Amino acid sequence: MRFLCAGQYIRVYRRPESPFYLARCPKCAKCVRFRVGKGGSDARMFDVSC
Ligand SMILES: [Zn+2]
Repeated sequence: MRFLCAGQYIRVYRRPESPFYLARCPKCAKCVRFRVGKGGSDARMFDVSC
């Protein structure tokens, strides 16, 4: 996924027991959480503006 304010792509991670991906913006340290998509890896392509 990509954080627009930092202009960087960040690898997201997910705990095996969690239904959410977690990611932290490297510039403003904002955390975002989003559900795993039905397509699986498609969820990694999100852009986040924060
Ligand atoms: Zn940010």
